[in-house]
Amino acid sequence: MIIEKVETFVLKDKLSKSFFFSQWEYSERSICVVKITASDGTYGWGEGYGPAKILEEGVNFLKPIVIGSDPLKNELVWHQMYRKTLDYARRGILVSSMSAIDIAIWDLKGKILGVAVSALLGGAHRDKVKPYATGLYFRNYEEPSVEFGEEIERYVKQGFKAIKMKVGLGVDEDYENVKKVRSMIGDEIELMIDSNHAYSLKEAVSLARKLEPLNISWFEEPLSPEFYDQYRELREKTTIPIAAGECEYLRYGFHQLLRSKSVDILQPDICSSGGLTEAKRISTLASVYGIDVIPHTWGTSIGMHVALHFISNLELIPGRMKQPDFLMEYDQTENALREKLTFPKVIMKDGFIKVPKGPGLGLDVNEDVLREYDISKMKDKSII
Ligand SMILES: [Mg+2]
Repeated sequence: MIIEKVETFVLKDKLSKSFFFSQWEYSERSICVVKITASDGTYGWGEGYGPAKILEEGVNFLKPIVIGSDPLKNELVWHQMYRKTLDYARRGILVSSMSAIDIAIWDLKGKILGVAVSALLGGAHRDKVKPYATGLYFRNYEEPSVEFGEEIERYVKQGFKAIKMKVGLGVDEDYENVKKVRSMIGDEIELMIDSNHAYSLKEAVSLARKLEPLNISWFEEPLSPEFYDQYRELREKTTIPIAAGECEYLRYGFHQLLRSKSVDILQPDICSSGGLTEAKRISTLASVYGIDVIPHTWGTSIGMHVALHFISNLELIPGRMKQPDFLMEYDQTENALREKLTFPKVIMKDGFIKVPKGPGLGLDVNEDVLREYDISKMKDKSII
């Protein structure tokens, strides 16, 4: 059996209301989804994290390698894609294109063999994961520190036991916001903060020290992803665990983060850092350093399924009889592609999501929804 077809779909969802983080405004969600079909008609789905149209071009660039290859030999395909891109893109969007293809091949391979991706990865150590809510973005530029009450109430009602909020407006404003959120959610719910690399080292140290009494589970991307040594310095100066990795690529990039002792928690985005093939290697590398892996997950429900299978396979180091819950990022911002694109629906119950058991990623795409959000069928083909 060989791979016969690689198709791309650039999807766009215009938001009913914009939201902001420390860097810019989001007024739409867009993503490149990939479908790979084998000669017997079996197909698999993948997606890449990053600018969708550029990502699509990357997939087109890699297509000649993929077509004609054996879908059961995904590592061979991965290596050929890596060789083809190494000279031009050791980091960045071409790796995201590779990731989308790699994920679709894992789904396809699982469907051909009739086994779940978690089994292909080596087996599920756990059958459910604990999602944390990613939300509490800024509502506008002029007055970003709005009341968070309604949103927090919704998360608590849904059963979330952990919430991640955005920071990055300035040390004093962040401090006031985090203090407010902590007092609203109480001490039982875990709280994480994410600045999306908004700060200098001096600012990040100052904010971290002010926030230490508020029991923050991690401070995500406090600094520029370029400053590996500053991350280490920050880690030495605060008791709050430091997390990063969503701007990092391939095992070589993650090795740099690990070797320089930059983080307590590694956050590869499986849909951009090299796909499931490379994420498995990155988690092995992290285990050598005794560092936890909690992937960055911010796409459609395809990406969520990828994370569920991957997290189910993560090894607890050194391991014990009674295992802790493993966290998964669950974006709560408006995104029809996360809610409607695939079936069966992802269900959170009693604060947990079950790892799908069906073949491959355990999902299929609703092709009516795919067509509805496909920009090639829209009048306005622009994308932000
Ligand atoms: Mg983040």
